[in-house]
Amino acid sequence: MRIANVAGRLVLLTTEGWTDVERASGGLFSSDPQEIFERWDQFRHWAAQAPPAGDVVLRESDVRSPVPRPRQILAIGLNYRDHANESGFSVPEHPPVFTKFVSSITGPYGEVALPEGSVDWEVELVAVIGRRAWQVSEEQAWGHVAGLTVGQDISERDIQLSGPVPQFSLGKSYPGFAPMGPYLVTPDEFDDPHDLELGCSINGEEVQKGRTSDLIFSVPQLIARLSAVLPLLPGDVIFTGTPAGVGMGRSPQRFLAPGEELTSYVEGIGELRHRLVRA
Ligand code: ZN
Repeated sequence: MRIANVAGRLVLLTTEGWTDVERASGGLFSSDPQEIFERWDQFRHWAAQAPPAGDVVLRESDVRSPVPRPRQILAIGLNYRDHANESGFSVPEHPPVFTKFVSSITGPYGEVALPEGSVDWEVELVAVIGRRAWQVSEEQAWGHVAGLTVGQDISERDIQLSGPVPQFSLGKSYPGFAPMGPYLVTPDEFDDPHDLELGCSINGEEVQKGRTSDLIFSVPQLIARLSAVLPLLPGDVIFTGTPAGVGMGRSPQRFLAPGEELTSYVEGIGELRHRLVRA
């Protein structure tokens, strides 16, 4: 199953095309894309036999984040061996965790304003919670995932790495620094949700390419470890980490510049496309 947020309304891909969920369900489900995660199991059941209306035209300019207002965003650092190496760290025993504040969320297409500093790219697989997860095991973890989407963990490195102790969250939370989309895809849609190619490019030049099978801590391992500490709530988001090829790890280092176009993809989900502009 594949859903999207079109101009603030939840839509479902059916055999007839994109279908407005509130209309097709006769008001059983809200048009609000965030609210659906509270009733995910019921929605899955309905969606499996939803009337295919095909009443929504999907224009890129109308597509927003499939998860517009999560209560929590958890993000994982150094979760690919090659990225840990390029960052000058050994492979971590425990996943480093930070947040991206929710005001940084934006949609899959459009402009992102570049603040002062050194703004870097990090393509990531994003997992969205569909059932409250509290102290769940790895084996149970996929059952708590609504779906997967593409994310960019855009990062301003000067603030990220400043201060007497590490404090990643601010430098990763400027407005527009958490694009997600274009669709949320349920795990059963993939041949193997543990092995998806992901990558990104700048003005068509490939800068990152990896596979999620190289994650140090897989999606189920992350859910088990995170939910051991705090409940993961329906509609919460986990940015799972980025493979090698970020600008900070290059020699010479390279950062995003106004006028550049950043595209980011995960196999089987889709592509994000953003134009960087001066703030
Ligand atoms: Zn990241």
